[in-house]
Amino acid sequence: MRSEKEKYLELIKEIRKHDRAYFVEAHPIISDYEYDQLVKQLEEIEVKHPDWISSTSPTQRVSELASKGFRTVVHTIPMLSLANTYSKQELEDFVKRIHKWTGRDDIEFCTELKMDGIAVTVRYEMGNYHRALTRGDGKKGDDITTNLKTLRALPLELDLENPPDVLEIRGEVFMPHKSFRLSNQKKEEAGEEPWANPRNAAAGSLKLLDPKEVQKRNLAIVFYGIAEDSTQSIQNQFACHQFLEMIGLPTFATHHRLKTKDIGEILSFGSRVEEERKHLGFDIDGIVIKVDDFSMRTDLGVTGKSPRWAVAYKFAPEQAVTKIHEITVQVGRTGVLTPVAELEPVFLAGSTISRATLHNQEEIERKDIRVGDTVVIEKGGDVIPKVVKVEKAKRSKEAKPWKMPNECPICGSSVVHREGEVAIRCLNRDCGDQVLRRISYFASKDAMDIEHLGPKIVQQLVEKGLVKSIADIYGLTEEEISLLDGFKEKSIQNLLRSIEKSRKTTLPRLILSLGIPYVGEGIAELLAKHAGAIDTLAEMPLEELIEIEGVGEKVAESVVLYFQNPENLKEIHRLFHLGVHPEKVKTQRGHPFFGKTFVLTGSLENYSRSEAASLIKERGGKVSGSVSKKTDYVLVGSEPGSKYDKAKELGIQILSEEKFTSLLDFKQ
Ligand SMILES: [Zn+2]
Repeated sequence: MRSEKEKYLELIKEIRKHDRAYFVEAHPIISDYEYDQLVKQLEEIEVKHPDWISSTSPTQRVSELASKGFRTVVHTIPMLSLANTYSKQELEDFVKRIHKWTGRDDIEFCTELKMDGIAVTVRYEMGNYHRALTRGDGKKGDDITTNLKTLRALPLELDLENPPDVLEIRGEVFMPHKSFRLSNQKKEEAGEEPWANPRNAAAGSLKLLDPKEVQKRNLAIVFYGIAEDSTQSIQNQFACHQFLEMIGLPTFATHHRLKTKDIGEILSFGSRVEEERKHLGFDIDGIVIKVDDFSMRTDLGVTGKSPRWAVAYKFAPEQAVTKIHEITVQVGRTGVLTPVAELEPVFLAGSTISRATLHNQEEIERKDIRVGDTVVIEKGGDVIPKVVKVEKAKRSKEAKPWKMPNECPICGSSVVHREGEVAIRCLNRDCGDQVLRRISYFASKDAMDIEHLGPKIVQQLVEKGLVKSIADIYGLTEEEISLLDGFKEKSIQNLLRSIEKSRKTTLPRLILSLGIPYVGEGIAELLAKHAGAIDTLAEMPLEELIEIEGVGEKVAESVVLYFQNPENLKEIHRLFHLGVHPEKVKTQRGHPFFGKTFVLTGSLENYSRSEAASLIKERGGKVSGSVSKKTDYVLVGSEPGSKYDKAKELGIQILSEEKFTSLLDFKQ
């Protein structure tokens, strides 16, 4: 019979197999539910046998970031950047040059996609995931080991019987368009500035301090090179792709790599890929042509920062020239005023474009955009069109610089420019589309999740005067709903039932639904955990909010400002009155660890350092690396270091492991 330990190790392999099927091969074998069951079984074993937990276990993907910020590490082998060109002629010249240098005209080239993402290098040692770095300046990069580990496409252990001692591979992290859309939607809903493009979104996500948040961004990765292989068994680029594929690492699909000696074939590969570009679901900006044979590459060597054996052929960005008729101002859900260029309609990358966002006053000044200007607009991948530049030679003499209005163009209230924010806001809660958007957001899937209450229905309810605020939803009667276009017996009951269902909700959901600027899903959860109830949250002073790990000053100020408005509190109390009940949240306030700073020293018998640290954090405490007057407790294990002496010297309270354990389950 299999021992439980064997079962545990097999489960890890099994889950890896499904990660590979789902994230690398895009052919899931089992349902999400079945997958979750496997993970649950694994977790149950790990709870029973914490000493068995393997670093390759899928439960270890989200771990703590070692310290704030990212260490800079020197690359074992420099990460070069490719020379690039936009011209077919130069591409042909590259091929000719290789022929000349090698004295042969039968050189094999490998051609593949040029990803528009973040270049990374990933090192496996003895088959285990060891380290990941960004390119940085090519000589040294940022250590992103912890964050990259959250990508489930990335094996924590290579699928190889006899893995090489060292395997360092090169690739690119990117954000697929689908994740990009979702991420930007969430940012806009939280009142934050959206990412300009998927590459920025990927770069920003890799630098998040909370690996849990990184995992939510659904980043993807693709590998296309080997920097170091201790077995030196791979001899050419084409074999490199096949090898990566064989060991379960994501690489280019077979129709996105081509081995050929013929420049004509390379060019037609390029044309085909350029055609396919808008349907790929991720951003590429060209193709890469590499000499296939590795030993030949060594002979060709490097010039400056680029290898002589490869070149990138970049596609021209999709641009069009048009005219700005007018600049209008939109008022968003959180009152942010956004200038929009109204354009002479022009066809670009598969669709007709008649508007482009100008983001804010700063952006307009930086590019000096005026009404009547002839402008170049661009659309890369899935991104909303933007104005790249103004053709100033074509500007009329009368064109004057444009300024954001001091009054809201919808309701006429004066606008507010908060310190440290680029955005300008209208603070009138009832202005323009704000009511409509606030209610739609409140009912949306991530928020209160009221089925059958989409934006179109909300619009009707508002236009017919049936709903003026979020609480009004819970006062709707059958008769009132029957006034909506197309609503009959069944649809009326469906809507009423979903409204009823949403009354029972969770505190994080309710907090999120209020639409407080900068409060997204993660922040709502943190606030709920710390406050335990809306009324407590409403009374929390700024200083206490800032103390919550993960809540910045901007967020804290926004929360305080929100609850300072008596209208908002009134609305929330109406919600309660109309039967909206968030579940009680176990709060950490009142726990002896809450708000206290801990320092850990020596080795504990029953917990690893990081386990003890998360237990403290779960209860609202903080963990610091060094003892100072600000330290509240020093948790001491066996063989403590100098921190213990320092603590005694400063008279800081010493906590034994036993005492620590007994306090963990402290009940208020
Ligand atoms: Zn207004």
